[in-house]
Amino acid sequence: MSKRLKIQCWNCPKTYFENLDTTQKELIVKCPYCNTRGKVNLRPYRKQNKSATIYRKEDAPMTTQSDEEFQFPDVLPSRKEE
Ligand SMILES: [Zn+2]
Repeated sequence: MSKRLKIQCWNCPKTYFENLDTTQKELIVKCPYCNTRGKVNLRPYRKQNKSATIYRKEDAPMTTQSDEEFQFPDVLPSRKEE
């Protein structure tokens, strides 16, 4: 499941859109303006009020509604890659 989200570059700091795989906890993004890679952490935006458990299965796609499980801000901050 991917979602188009607005990212703020930690380096420039401009904003740009990226399709992010919301099944991942942490994603690598690349700023189109300064070509700097950064990390985006999705964990803080996962909603806690759902009783549904996310099962981590390697080859089974998740059938849960990912859009409902996240609450993203207008702009997601990125941070420097370690
Ligand atoms: Zn940048």
